[in-house]
Amino acid sequence: HAKNTGKGRWAQFDTSMDERVMRRFEIESALRRAIQNQEISLSFQPIVSLRTGELHSFEALARWQLPSGSFIPPSSFIPLAEETGLIIPLGAMILQQACEQGRKLRDAFPMIPIRMNVNISEKQFQLPYFVDQVTRVLRETGFPAPALCLELTESVLLGDSEGCAKKIRALEKLGIQLTLDDFGTGYSSLSYLSQLPVQGLKIDAHFIQGLTSSSREKVAQNVAIIRAILGLAYTFELSVTAEGIEDEEQRRRVESLGVTFGQGYLFARPLSYTDVEAYLEEHALPSVAQAA
Ligand code: C2E
Ligand code: MG
Ligand code: MG
Ligand code: MG
Repeated sequence: HAKNTGKGRWAQFDTSMDERVMRRFEIESALRRAIQNQEISLSFQPIVSLRTGELHSFEALARWQLPSGSFIPPSSFIPLAEETGLIIPLGAMILQQACEQGRKLRDAFPMIPIRMNVNISEKQFQLPYFVDQVTRVLRETGFPAPALCLELTESVLLGDSEGCAKKIRALEKLGIQLTLDDFGTGYSSLSYLSQLPVQGLKIDAHFIQGLTSSSREKVAQNVAIIRAILGLAYTFELSVTAEGIEDEEQRRRVESLGVTFGQGYLFARPLSYTDVEAYLEEHALPSVAQAA
């Protein structure tokens, strides 16, 4: 799992426990500084309609670039930020940036109803003032609530289900969209799907990649899992996005199974803000303008 890979990656060259603690401490300090100096930026990956290829939304993804120019992947620093509590200032900064930049894009491309998906980690969601934080960011940035979609993982919804349901209802009241990220990899307690007003779920990339496995048995298993997820989504009227679509074969298969939206390298890599502007000029404008 990402959490373990993250830790393992930091520790992989270390031999002694002392060194490991030291290294972790250094990385933690570096992350703290990076947050203070706003060295963590966002990239934006398009989520598209599988039928038409039209842009639906962007997912904001955190990027940490070191002064040397190299990038530390979120699978390494997000788990560290969660363990150290740094996710709280970091998450606030990411939400603020996503809405600010989303607002700027909306101003630059008024014909395109730009939506923004933001990943929210468990600790951030559990803050007692989380709903107030979201409310304030929307007010300060002027980004419209219905264009914001928060991506939550299943684990977020397992904790204090009472308080969690309350928060979700408050967010729903603000008009914000909620989606379950990495669906199928967590505990998949089905009861919450009927109780919680989420609007969508994202099928984890693992199941999409399995569709083009060389093992027939594995392909059949993944088809069955995706069918089951789609059945649930149909029952609870949730929109479905397939993550990690890398080739045309995967796209064709998820579309024919009945998935509505897709995200993956086949359509676009996560893009810098400047590349998003270019993307919107090239791809999205004509089709959206036609539809409008
Ligand atoms: P996620 O939310 O499931 O995001 C999707 C990940 O899949 C992203 O990895 C994206 O770059 C990657 N991806 C997209 N298309 C493809 C594809 O076709 N093939 C493959 N192999 N991968 C693809 P990324 O940016 O490295 O982020 C990894 C995870 O880190 C995210 O998974 C999310 O859980 C977490 N993360 C990233 N940014 C944030 C953030 O701002 N806040 C929080 N709390 N977590 C974040
Ligand atoms: Mg996500
Ligand atoms: Mg995901
Ligand atoms: Mg995923």
